[in-house]
Amino acid sequence: MTKRVCRMHGCPRIQDAKLCDEHARSHEKRRGTRQQRGYDAAHDKERRRIEKQGIENHRCARCGAWFERGEPFQLGHTDDRLNWSGPEHIRCNTSAAGAASHAVFKRPEGRR
Ligand SMILES: [Zn+2]
Ligand SMILES: [Zn+2]
Repeated sequence: MTKRVCRMHGCPRIQDAKLCDEHARSHEKRRGTRQQRGYDAAHDKERRRIEKQGIENHRCARCGAWFERGEPFQLGHTDDRLNWSGPEHIRCNTSAAGAASHAVFKRPEGRR
């Protein structure tokens, strides 16, 4: 049986695995963060795809109203965060997030 010291610098715990329980867990957490980054990249890609199609060809996933040409939007996602519900008005998206008081209103013609 090979007992070894935790691979994490300065950690004195000894166990069979390369990492002690605590550090194995924080290692898992970091992997989750990498997935989150992948999610963000896919999110940007989806946004660009919609911008290319023209936002005026889409309806808000929350209120169902058509977007105006060049109107700023946010990409809404399903509750499980595995899929996108589609573009949403910024006011619809932020009120859904319970941050209505901090909503940022942009003029429809004011593109970034
Ligand atoms: Zn450790
Ligand atoms: Zn809306």
